[in-house]
Amino acid sequence: MSGKENKNNIENVKIKELKEKLFLNRENLGHSMPTGDIRKAVKFCEKYKKFLDLSKTEREVVDYAVTILRREGFTEFREGKRYTTGDKLFYLNRGKALVAAIIGKEGLDKGVNILASHIDSPRIDLKQNPLYEDAELALFKTHYYGGIKKYQWTTVPLALHGVIVKADGTIVKVNIGESEDDPVFVITDLLPHLAQQQYKRPSADLVKGEELNLLIGSMPFRSGERTKESDLVKLNIMNVLFEKYGIVESDFRSAELEAVPAFKATDVGFDRSLIGAYGQDDRVCAYTTLMATVACRIPTRTVVTVLADKEEVGSDGNTGLNSQFLEHFIEALAEVKSVPLRTVLLNSRCISADVSAAFDPTFANVLEKMNAPYLNHGAVLMKYTGSRGKSGTNDASAEYVGYIRSLFDENNVSWQTGMLGKVDTGGGGTVAKFISALNVDTIDVGVPMLSMHSPFEITAKKDIYMAYKAFTAFANSK
Ligand code: MN
Ligand code: MN
Repeated sequence: MSGKENKNNIENVKIKELKEKLFLNRENLGHSMPTGDIRKAVKFCEKYKKFLDLSKTEREVVDYAVTILRREGFTEFREGKRYTTGDKLFYLNRGKALVAAIIGKEGLDKGVNILASHIDSPRIDLKQNPLYEDAELALFKTHYYGGIKKYQWTTVPLALHGVIVKADGTIVKVNIGESEDDPVFVITDLLPHLAQQQYKRPSADLVKGEELNLLIGSMPFRSGERTKESDLVKLNIMNVLFEKYGIVESDFRSAELEAVPAFKATDVGFDRSLIGAYGQDDRVCAYTTLMATVACRIPTRTVVTVLADKEEVGSDGNTGLNSQFLEHFIEALAEVKSVPLRTVLLNSRCISADVSAAFDPTFANVLEKMNAPYLNHGAVLMKYTGSRGKSGTNDASAEYVGYIRSLFDENNVSWQTGMLGKVDTGGGGTVAKFISALNVDTIDVGVPMLSMHSPFEITAKKDIYMAYKAFTAFANSK
């Protein structure tokens, strides 16, 4: 080696060292997870898949959570009771939203740690007067819930979940299409041979809202007999429903019936690294925050974990986070201790736990490579969401991001930053803005996802486990 070559070599080493010291290293983030954690992630996700299969509506998530919480020693919240350090409680909001809490060692005046996620997912709701017969087929009229690409929901086997409140007030729970021997239901689509006109529609209208009609039967009442009576297929369906549930047609008016994909959560890929399932937005965060909460022993600060409804339709309604149920719950805890609510809130911290759009190489043009989250790169930390110049967002302060970032690093959480697509290509929001409106430091942290809001959403096992680790670290933070 000549003197000049040697000098060049030294320079190159220096450049390399300096780059390592100064540049943000995004490369190989996905490979940096220790094998021990990968094994734990696989195990953790087996239970997660079972949870998904049992929890396809907000009511079912609440039921599941209550079972877990009771098993872990949580009891139902009683207004006016003086809770002390280590007490574990849960508060139910109309069977569709839930708050779980563990009273910490420090007083409420020091603030609480809030983990918030949502448990409603896009789906197909029945209208209040749904049942009709047309061309000797029985169908349900529907109204989709949340932001869906309507064409994705045709020709998919659907199960029916929900409740019917009968005229006498009795409540009938419905869950049909989930067992092996249950029938399923389906929204039909046009065969390609006759779709020339349909293809000319704008793609948002490829299948229109009023075309999302659910096929539920085709057999007339007493099919062997000759009769000129009309609506016999409809009659037969009503007769089946009367025998099974004791309901009459007018009972649909006081029902919440939701059609959701009938298939089960499953591994995706030869390497089984991914999970495909319905409703992972945002049940992946509901499950991981719930598990992080029950894993807490006695936290320093009081932990408040909320599973909210209605996020997919803007968080409105009394079970959504734009209502005051969370605030009222914290107020009730504070009142007995004579701590002003505003003091609790001012000193509180929140992680708004929701999914984000992972980089998809097939649709790379809508995502900005440097700032998009990637599958397998860990929990996603989003300073802001929103659209068109950060409109409608909670934009976490640099100080709070700095705090969360150190917390994750100290607890060996693989994490990445992310945002929802390129600037001005669309956007979206979460519950973060409703909690930050209470004067609580709030940031979005979640799991990257492909095919969001489709019947079959994709997440990575590594990221799910890292979200769990991130939420555990947050719940236990001082
Ligand atoms: Mn969500
Ligand atoms: Mn969503």
